[in-house]
Amino acid sequence: MGREEMSVTEREIRRRRSSLIMKSLIALLILLLAGLAALLLYETKFKVYNNPWAPQTGDLMESSESETQPQERISAQEQTLEAQANRLAAQYDYDAAIELLRGQPGFDRSDRRKTLVASYEKTKAGCSPYSVDQITHVFFHTLVKDDARAFDGDEDTDGYNQVMTTISEFNSIIQQMYNRGYVMVSMHDMVEVAEDGSVSTREIRLPAGKKPFVLSQDDCSYYHYMDGDGFAQKLVLDENGRVKNSYIEDDGSVSIGDYDVVPLIDTFVENHPDFAYHGHKGIIALTGYEGVLGYRTDEVYKTREAARLTGWQTKFLEENPDFDFEKETAEAKAVADAMKAEGWEFASHTWGHINPAARGLDQVQTDTERWRDWVQPVVGPTDVLIFAFGADISDWTPYSHENPYFNYYKSMGFNIYCNVDGSVKAWVQIGSDYMRMGRRNLDGYRMYYNPDLLEDLFDVETAWDDNRPTPVPRM
Ligand SMILES: [Zn+2]
Repeated sequence: MGREEMSVTEREIRRRRSSLIMKSLIALLILLLAGLAALLLYETKFKVYNNPWAPQTGDLMESSESETQPQERISAQEQTLEAQANRLAAQYDYDAAIELLRGQPGFDRSDRRKTLVASYEKTKAGCSPYSVDQITHVFFHTLVKDDARAFDGDEDTDGYNQVMTTISEFNSIIQQMYNRGYVMVSMHDMVEVAEDGSVSTREIRLPAGKKPFVLSQDDCSYYHYMDGDGFAQKLVLDENGRVKNSYIEDDGSVSIGDYDVVPLIDTFVENHPDFAYHGHKGIIALTGYEGVLGYRTDEVYKTREAARLTGWQTKFLEENPDFDFEKETAEAKAVADAMKAEGWEFASHTWGHINPAARGLDQVQTDTERWRDWVQPVVGPTDVLIFAFGADISDWTPYSHENPYFNYYKSMGFNIYCNVDGSVKAWVQIGSDYMRMGRRNLDGYRMYYNPDLLEDLFDVETAWDDNRPTPVPRM
């Protein structure tokens, strides 16, 4: 073999070797590009568009991190911003979510934010309006925290068994309704009232499968007669400023926790933000005669006018010699303010829990003025009247200004009126200057006697609390 032949072979080997290296490099490059493309596709197509903007945005951050794209690194500030926008979008307020991102400086330079905005716009375009007159309205009373104490056989047991719901039943009902696509809305999402008092329908748009409903709670006063019967004592602010309940345990110690509708719903929405349309929660119907939210804020606790004090009130004032009316009112107002900030609304349930038409106009006026003077300063003004006893001031035919009760209530600023009608899924009547809505009681009586009427909302057998005595007494 000559030198020349050797060098030919060497050259050939060198050529092959470099070609092999080239090929490997190209293959490696293709793999790298394919990987990047897959990552990008996953990120934009699936990761974001499928994202119902639940709070777990943490995983959105990790996969997009890449050494080659340092401009995509997400700061803590950006994470907070995205979490805020995602929460707004999860609560169906796409416009607010988009506005939040668009309003940031340098929006045009952020592909991430643009992609998020595009995903919000896409979901928003897929929403459709829900017929306002098909919206259902459910209500509860104060929830039973301790079944043994509520159903202990004393003279109040039957009443609690009929019209109250236990915490375990409530939690099951809410979870089932959420699973079925129900979303809390405010009655103020259904109609809007113009300056001149005229009422017009608004549009509620939701993604496919979502159904709006209204939630209310009656008599959230923690009346004296319920003391010691296994109900929360009052609504309070915890050390983080959150609305919770206080509860007096058997041994007299005080626990703070989720023991009634308001904090239970707050906690549920924290974990399931898409349960609250635009963050709106329920509406609390309040009387005034024993104060509100567990605070003794009525006039009589201040004046202590003997002729007006009930036995319960006298006993309370005797047992609480340090009672300070101004402090009590300030505390109640702080709780009400925190509730409003969390999406809650308030309604009048009449000051004295009265059936207006049975009392006559004079008493209705006194009653309404008492609510205005002693409840409104604590919870703020409202245009919603949720009648006590499921009463109403007219039959099902539209309200007219010939009706002195409607005329009076409307002149006092009430635009929305609720009665009770558990026989139909939805009952909504919108007139030129009012809205009326029927409500469905989700209590022991309804669950025991008419589980079929609740099938659209939840399965009674699943929700039923076996500690409840049966049969539930007839009314
Ligand atoms: Zn009531």
